[in-house]
Amino acid sequence: MRLQGKHILVTAAGQGIGRASVLALAAEGATVLATDINEQLLASYEGVQRVRTLKLDVLDKAAIAKAVTSMPALDVLFNCAGFVHSGTALQATDDEWNFALNLNVRAQFWAIQSALPRMVAAGRGSIINMASVCSSIKGLPNRFIYGTTKAAVIGLTKSVAADYVADGIRCNAICPGTVDTPSLGERINANPDPEAARKAFIARQPMGRLAKAEEIAPLVVFLASDESTFVTGQTYAIDGGITI
Ligand code: NAD
Repeated sequence: MRLQGKHILVTAAGQGIGRASVLALAAEGATVLATDINEQLLASYEGVQRVRTLKLDVLDKAAIAKAVTSMPALDVLFNCAGFVHSGTALQATDDEWNFALNLNVRAQFWAIQSALPRMVAAGRGSIINMASVCSSIKGLPNRFIYGTTKAAVIGLTKSVAADYVADGIRCNAICPGTVDTPSLGERINANPDPEAARKAFIARQPMGRLAKAEEIAPLVVFLASDESTFVTGQTYAIDGGITI
């Protein structure tokens, strides 16, 4: 088991990529604190070995610090929480902008600020940040706020990697294409023509399909593990060919 003895904190672990990652991390022997704002979703972890759950709103800075303190050790932080806004620059509102920057970027800053002192003291740590190919990598229509936030995540990731490389801390970003998760289903169903919307999401990937969350989780396991000890400051596209 590649993650035996590692203690890992995951945000937004209730469903989608966060949940698939927690299951994959625990299956590799890690002890995982699976957190989410939605307690009901966390109930699905009952009986899963080595997984403890905690209700955590990543917009609550003090609660993040408390969650970090509650762990016996912290080897890996997976900042997975994020929200997709639809729309162009002309459609974006200040409230949407503030919400997205806070949830997609500031929450990662807070979690990293809470985690770093323990990681630096231990002389090791891996921070994994959820970005997207929709970011500084690729402009996609109707994703003005979202793409802006995920580009910021890439900048944040590289900054942390540069500042703490000599302390044994690694920091990398994951950039998925379109992944079939509950929130994608909501975005599709909110469309006046859901069938056409699903086809359009599928068409973004040259592979002609959506990713499963379980196809993103192995990258999280790799970045959490000692197989990636020479890897830092990188952005990993995992996108069915979008960025070929
Ligand atoms: P999802 O959007 O279906 O679920 C998100 C989870 O976040 C939910 O369990 C929700 O309860 C939780 N959450 C929402 N607000 C929270 C808060 N304030 N504090 C803590 N938890 C909160 O899951 P997903 O689609 O796998 O997305 C997860 C991450 O992956 C996001 O950052 C998203 O931007 C990114 N991503 C997703 C896709 C995709 O196509 N699904 C593609 C690229 C990147």
